[in-house]
Formats: sequence, C-alpha cells, structure tokens
Amino acid sequence: MMPRKIAFGENAAKEFDYPKNSLVITTTTPDIYEKWLDYMGIKEYEVYNKATPDPSIESVEAIREKYEGKKISAYIGLGGGSSMDVCKYLGKLTGIPKVLIPTTFGTGAEMTTYAVISFEHKKKLLQDEAFLADAAVVDPYFLPGTPYNIMRNSACDAAAQASEGYDSKLSNPLTKLFCREAFDVLEDAIINDKSELLPYGAMLSGIGFGNSSTTLGHALSYVFSNEGMPHGYSLSSCTTVAHKFNKSIYYERFRKICKKLNFEPLTLKQGFEDAADVIMPDRGHLDNNPIPVTRENIVQCLDEIINKNPLS
Ligand SMILES: [Zn+2]
Repeated sequence: MMPRKIAFGENAAKEFDYPKNSLVITTTTPDIYEKWLDYMGIKEYEVYNKATPDPSIESVEAIREKYEGKKISAYIGLGGGSSMDVCKYLGKLTGIPKVLIPTTFGTGAEMTTYAVISFEHKKKLLQDEAFLADAAVVDPYFLPGTPYNIMRNSACDAAAQASEGYDSKLSNPLTKLFCREAFDVLEDAIINDKSELLPYGAMLSGIGFGNSSTTLGHALSYVFSNEGMPHGYSLSSCTTVAHKFNKSIYYERFRKICKKLNFEPLTLKQGFEDAADVIMPDRGHLDNNPIPVTRENIVQCLDEIINKNPLS
C-alpha cells in the first residue's frame, strides 16, 4: 500500500493543486508556516497551529469538535511526524481526505499506514489502512531550514528503517526492492554529504518498511526514547547491535553511516533486567525479527550497546 498520489521533487509542493477549503494542520509557528504556505500558493484555507509534538487522542478529538459542521474538504498535514499523525487519525475519524507534506525528512510517515498517538500519556503505535494519505507531497524545498541535529536523527531513522525493513520476516521481493534502493540512496546522501537526496531516500524507506516492518533495532530503542533520547539517535547504537545479532548484510554499512554522523554512545538509567521487561512484550517488532530473540539475547544486546560502544 502507498498513497494514491505521490508528488515528488523540486517544486512539487508549489505545483500541487490543493483542494479549496482545506484545513492546514501544523506544529510550527506562523513565521515559519506562513513562508511555507506562500511557497505552496494555497488559497482559501484555514490553519490549525496548535497541534503539539507527541499528539494525544484528546488533542485530535478537540480538532474534530472545533471544525465539526464546517465544510473542510481536506486536511493538509504540514510539518514533522506529529502534524502528519494528527491528520492521519482525524482522517480516520471523519473520512475527510488528507494530503501529507513532510518538512523534516526521515520517518517516511507520509507513505505509511502507521500513526503514533498517545493514550493516557502512553505513546501507541497504531496501524490502519485508513491512515494512508490520499496524496503525499515530498519537496526538498523544506530541507534547508532543518537544524543539523534533527536532520542527523532523521537520516539515521530512515537508514535504520530501510535496513531493518529489508531483514524483516514480513518482507517480500517488492518491499526489499524499495528498502534496498532506499538504503543505497541514504548511504550516498550521508557518506558523500548530499543531503538533497535525503527526502527521496526517506520516501523510499517509508514505502519499503511501511509494507514490511522494523524489527529488533527499533524494539531495543524504545527504552532509550522513554528516557528522553531522540528516536533516530537511539537507533544509531540499537540498530547497529541488532544488525550484528541478525548477521544483517547492512551491519557494516549502517555502522559506517552512524560513525559519519558522529553519534555519541548511549546511556541508560534503568537496569538491563527492567529494560528487558519493557522490550520483551513488544511482539510487533520482535516477532518480525529474522532470528528468534530470547530475553537473554535482549540483555546481551543492551550490554553491548551500553558497555562496548558499538560505534567505536
Ligand atoms: Zn523509526
């Protein structure tokens, strides 16, 4: 599955024909999004800019109620993952079409049936065909303003998703095709300092892993994100160690990418046994790992991540 329409490349967001009476949903501030909307040439729209990072189900419901009865022809999710997640969930609730426009490139969320929404302060990864965008607009125009740290984390996430997705038990020749090409493009972008290639690589990664799954690397990473580490940063060491465990063809190449991006080693406040308690029930990721993973394996992987600097 992928969006019915994909507009990609330079000027894609400028040339896209936006439906009238759209509701633009973004997490950014007017000084930034007004410039974007100007570039896009969108007319007769409303902006909802109170979407917050890590959106909760309550915040999504609040938007639905606020615009109930108004004629909204489409949602336009403009920004990072959170803006798009809000649109995905809203679209599922109301059936109104959604156009997703990523401005930080890495998650590939504009291509996938996944959304992350918080329920009772706990982030939940949801999957639903109804989350799929009606159109995705991927335009490198938005890239230059991205701070280096965000770009670095996003690039690492995209490369982790492509390589874990390639190895996933749910992969097939078609998803592998996308994951392989995604990794090649991302590797070229990172190693040879061609950041303009990141949007394309992230998009391909989204199609590839979005139709298979991520695996052990992502499963390991969430205990670090729960302690406040950014997602992409956590993956640098976690996916490296997971690739080693899985004897992945991407082990060395992924490690090289992380070294190039200069990621520091990870730290963990909780003990390995407590962390393993959190990781083991994550069957969505672990069951799709190419090799069965025991609790002992998890503890060994954590030990390697923390005590043996896998990126040294
Ligand atoms: Zn990810």
